[in-house]
Amino acid sequence: MQQPVLQKEICYLKGVGPAKAKLLQKLGIETVGDLIACYPRDYRDLTVHTPIAAAPFDETCCIKATVTTPAVERRLSGGRTLYTLTAFDGQTEFRVLFFNTKYAAQALRRGETYLFYGKVSGSLLKRELVSPTVYTVEQASSLLPVYPLTAGISNKVMNTLVKNAFATLSEPLGDPLPQNLRIAHRLMGLDEAVKAVHFPKNREEMLQARRRLIFEELFLLQLALRRLKGRSRGVSSLTVQRDFTPEFWQSLPFTPTAAQRRVTDECFGDLQSGVPMNRLVQGDVGSGKTAVAAALCHSVALNRLQCAVMAPTEILAQQHYETFTKFLAPFGIRTGLLTGSTKAAEKRQFLADLADGTLQVAIGTHALLEDAVQFCSLGLVVTDEQHRFGVAQRSRLAAKGQDPHLLVMSATPIPRTLALIIYGDLDVSVINELPPGRKQVATYAVPTSYRPRVYEYIRKFLSEGQQAYVVCPLVEESEENPSPLTAAVDYQKQLQQEFPDHQVGLLHGKMRPKEKEQIMSRFAAGQIHILVATTVIEVGVDVPAANIMVIENAERFGLSQLHQLRGRVGRGDHAAATVLISDAKGEIAAKRLQVLKETNDGFRIADEDLKLRGPGDFFGARQHGLPPMKLADLLTDTKELTAAAAAADTLLRTDPALGKAEHAGIRREVERLMARVGQG
Ligand code: ADP
Ligand code: MG
Repeated sequence: MQQPVLQKEICYLKGVGPAKAKLLQKLGIETVGDLIACYPRDYRDLTVHTPIAAAPFDETCCIKATVTTPAVERRLSGGRTLYTLTAFDGQTEFRVLFFNTKYAAQALRRGETYLFYGKVSGSLLKRELVSPTVYTVEQASSLLPVYPLTAGISNKVMNTLVKNAFATLSEPLGDPLPQNLRIAHRLMGLDEAVKAVHFPKNREEMLQARRRLIFEELFLLQLALRRLKGRSRGVSSLTVQRDFTPEFWQSLPFTPTAAQRRVTDECFGDLQSGVPMNRLVQGDVGSGKTAVAAALCHSVALNRLQCAVMAPTEILAQQHYETFTKFLAPFGIRTGLLTGSTKAAEKRQFLADLADGTLQVAIGTHALLEDAVQFCSLGLVVTDEQHRFGVAQRSRLAAKGQDPHLLVMSATPIPRTLALIIYGDLDVSVINELPPGRKQVATYAVPTSYRPRVYEYIRKFLSEGQQAYVVCPLVEESEENPSPLTAAVDYQKQLQQEFPDHQVGLLHGKMRPKEKEQIMSRFAAGQIHILVATTVIEVGVDVPAANIMVIENAERFGLSQLHQLRGRVGRGDHAAATVLISDAKGEIAAKRLQVLKETNDGFRIADEDLKLRGPGDFFGARQHGLPPMKLADLLTDTKELTAAAAAADTLLRTDPALGKAEHAGIRREVERLMARVGQG
């Protein structure tokens, strides 16, 4: 989008003073153009009304009903006030509850008909709506956009501001997509699409507008990734002459799986090809990615080149350091560790040893990116758990050598076809086999009423010297639950009372990284027996005695996420179990949990997750190192992804440098995107 007015600061807009501008900044909106590109994250369809008796539980729907009794006020403990009224939808009378919002409740007039928009709860016979949004019947004619919000900026305000922004536009936005491409893929023009996505006349128009914008996003992303990939493919002077892998496999306490051997061979093909390796190794949790990385480091080091292994957290780096040292020291290969908490003297030694080549394998966190870290002959860069790092960080580490080989390891199970597209700049290898004798993690799904029995189960594990994870997602802030964090803190206290003879620790996302590391180390050392975690537990950390995991509100996680979490247990010899606690009703919820019980194959689970989420669910989990997409969902928008990939390939074949006049718009956008990917 090119028009000058779009570059103007948001204060330029009618209705935006300094205070509002500050709030908008929190949403990433600095200019008029940012506002226009702040697309609704959902729509409320007020044209479809559901009778309350037929409304599914826990799904948002719109109920048209007439108020039959005015709001009655009742004081609750904790200084809260409950307002209750009844309404009739033509078939059923039901209760509507509001907490604290006197104005909203008392504005509703007896005998008037309204649209109540919310989730149905209560029992089968006595249904009720808690804190619904209420609309007048006049508002019922359209799809209402729902914007990303922040405190102080309501949906109504956003709506008005977007309208004002459109009013300031005097010329077209300037469509980067050339007409022939739009015709070939039946895509709306940019102006039409942007307008329709904010103010859709109907569902069909909204979907077409979204499709157009999603296509553009994915198309530009893939062009950018393909160009980045092309750029990094120079000639490599770092050919790894001899393959020492057989000796390495010989030295291990276990026999490598066929998949580990195959993937290592695939990597070796790259190392000997004369072109720098750029490869993603995907493998389910526990598939043994570390051994593959160590095998490569072993041969690279014996060929007199250095290796860097970067992990996202200190504890993971520490663990890798121990593993690599154990594997590589017998060959006389020296391994060093650098993290944020490495002592000054040790750090000095590390830097000196690295610079003169005494150290062959450098393991660490982001600390490895510091300017002071200099290699004398960097040949291989490994990054573990890739979705934590941006493309840029990978390149920054790589820039410490001359086109070193690059290996990215990830446990995020993405279907292979999709991975090939998403990681457009990487070749992909998959470790599709687990080491033999891995015990299946027993998985149970139970309702909250089973909690006492679940505690008994935990007690049994603890009595056998085992440890437990209790994962409780941060439930969204709401009237009933004003502070999600307090809930987690309370939960820890409650568990501590339940288990007075054991240490119960707490790990949450608001903690500083240092604090998190400390808690995690104490858990790994067995000083904490039960770890309550609100955040996703540190990826890849191995605590062999942690063999039971309880996941509260399991329905709030994606299947793949649950599978990853489950991968944290069952890493030792003891039998392991995961208990999913959820009161979510409905067929999909049941099917989702069933998939987890049935299979332990992360890729199958990812596939099923995609299928079950269905086309209606636009907004999914985002786990990758790419810039955030505005509308596109890399996991579910597969049709557009494939179409856009094909279009990107075609375009680059005819105009590899994007130099043609009709591609100037594309080129500008791709360069902007490459710069953003470049910043990570
Ligand atoms: P991940 O792929 O999740 O990073 P790891 O590399 O941490 O998995 O391996 C998990 C565990 O399996 C480690 O304890 C490792 O020593 C062990 N392991 C790896 N490969 C094999 C194998 N082929 N046979 C038996 N155990 C293995
Ligand atoms: Mg790992």
